[in-house]
Amino acid sequence: MRRSAATPTGRVGNGIVRRAGAEGEGEALQDRRVVVLGAGLSGLGAAHWLATQSVPCEVLERGAEVGGLARTLERNGYRFDYGGARFFASSSEVRELLRRLLGDDLLTVAASSRIYYRGKLYAYPLDPADLVRGMGIEGTASVLWGLVGGRLRRWLPLHRRRRDLESWLIEEFGETLYHAFFKDYNEKVWGEPCHNLSAELASRRIRGLDLVGALKRALVPGAGGGSKRYAFLYPRFGIGQLSRRLAAVSEERGAQIRREAAVTRLEIEGQRVRRVVYRDREGSVRETTGTDVISAIPLPRLLHILEPPPPGDVLASARSLKFRDMITVCLEIGRERVTSDSWLYVPERRIGFARVLEPRNWSAAMAPAGRSSLVAEYYCSEGDETWSRSDQQLIERTAQDLAGPLGLIHHNEVLGGCAIRIRKAYPVYRIDYRAHLRRIQRYLRRIENLQTVGRGGLFRYHNVAHLLESGIRAAENVFGAGHDLYGLSEDSGESGFFPVA
Ligand SMILES: Cc1cc2nc3c(=O)[nH]c(=O)nc-3n(C[C@H](O)[C@H](O)[C@H](O)COP(=O)(O)OP(=O)(O)OC[C@H]3O[C@@H](n4cnc5c(N)ncnc54)[C@H](O)[C@@H]3O)c2cc1C
Repeated sequence: MRRSAATPTGRVGNGIVRRAGAEGEGEALQDRRVVVLGAGLSGLGAAHWLATQSVPCEVLERGAEVGGLARTLERNGYRFDYGGARFFASSSEVRELLRRLLGDDLLTVAASSRIYYRGKLYAYPLDPADLVRGMGIEGTASVLWGLVGGRLRRWLPLHRRRRDLESWLIEEFGETLYHAFFKDYNEKVWGEPCHNLSAELASRRIRGLDLVGALKRALVPGAGGGSKRYAFLYPRFGIGQLSRRLAAVSEERGAQIRREAAVTRLEIEGQRVRRVVYRDREGSVRETTGTDVISAIPLPRLLHILEPPPPGDVLASARSLKFRDMITVCLEIGRERVTSDSWLYVPERRIGFARVLEPRNWSAAMAPAGRSSLVAEYYCSEGDETWSRSDQQLIERTAQDLAGPLGLIHHNEVLGGCAIRIRKAYPVYRIDYRAHLRRIQRYLRRIENLQTVGRGGLFRYHNVAHLLESGIRAAENVFGAGHDLYGLSEDSGESGFFPVA
């Protein structure tokens, strides 16, 4: 969250600003003590910045391990990310931080993705020659016709751009591609019809289909091949390496990270958080205080633990913000390599998962020598039919679909597997979510020393680099920098086709 009002600032050492705060003029660095709630990437980004500036900082993390959604499970010599998080860092400051933290373990990986559609695999970003091969002349003509139709809609007199995802996708990609790829994929991912979802999701996350550019690259010699290539950054030992490293450096520099410390109450007095109450690993109730609080706890939960509670309309808005849960099913495979893809998108509804990745293609250290693994992502909601399946059922079903319809493996190559259940993986931008979010923001702005960060804390679709940045900017705000954390870009920097990262 942004601070309530711009505060007068002046530079002190390290380029940090000094704030004339609500509790007195000219508070200096040494006067501040920050309590950070949650040791995911955004909370750790804040803790790292504060510790580096020698600002006292205490992090309370509910889990036994740091990292939140950015953790890596190690099992039988394999490594599986909770959510496979490859990233792009458009900010040079964040890129530099990543380099300092990870050194040679920060890999640059050439991306290559495909879409599985009706028994065929299509290169992504779309390659015109590949489309013609897969869909035939007639199918490709229908795609082009749909594209033209979609664009024409926009140019009609009195046309008003609609706010829902379905209209956005049809206008951008045309009816044919919408029905072939986008509709089923998005409805699988978000669990809602596309007309109930906000177009903001797409306009921020899905780049327009640059078929003209792709055609040019395919047809003009020296223009770079059929489809645009891109690369991403990834830690050699999985995304958890980044979280662990951030935590270790922060602790070395004096941050105190309390694991298994679940925050149960934030006591507000006189528009400030006065006490943070938490339960420690022994189950004892403890409290702590700070001049400032930075929270990465998902907004609905945060509002629920404020004392006194927010007004009823704010709580109702908090309840209406929905998150999508997911299960990643991880299979150990007795073969050196299965695909050459970074991602394989699977829009078809008859197959339960929506994406597959082969971690070895991101980093060789993700599987033992001579072996590989496949990870299938199931998007679901806690308690629904998918969520209620046992791990064994999910593993079995995934192996069947990867062997059967997709034909990627033989069933007997699966050496073992596990399922990781992830709550609140993705904020769902329903068509009316903004009004609710604004009401919550207005309420939280009144609490002078509380800022929220991260995917759940801002209810923003931030990627790894932006999450780190949101933590860093919140820490700078403690000293009056006045950053608008909602103003941070959500652009992944990727030439994205599907909206999930
Ligand atoms: C499947 C998946 C794939 C992804 N892929 C990509 C990708 O390819 N590229 C990319 O850039 N990003 C990706 N992301 C995004 C990114 O990895 C995560 O969203 C990010 O790590 C979230 O960080 P965070 O700090 O916002 O939240 P979290 O990681 O959720 O951290 C919040 C922390 O707060 C703690 N907490 C919650 N409640 C309490 C409480 N009451 N008391 C104390 N602690 C509490 C939690 O335990 C958690 O550790 C992906 C995410 C997922 C789920």
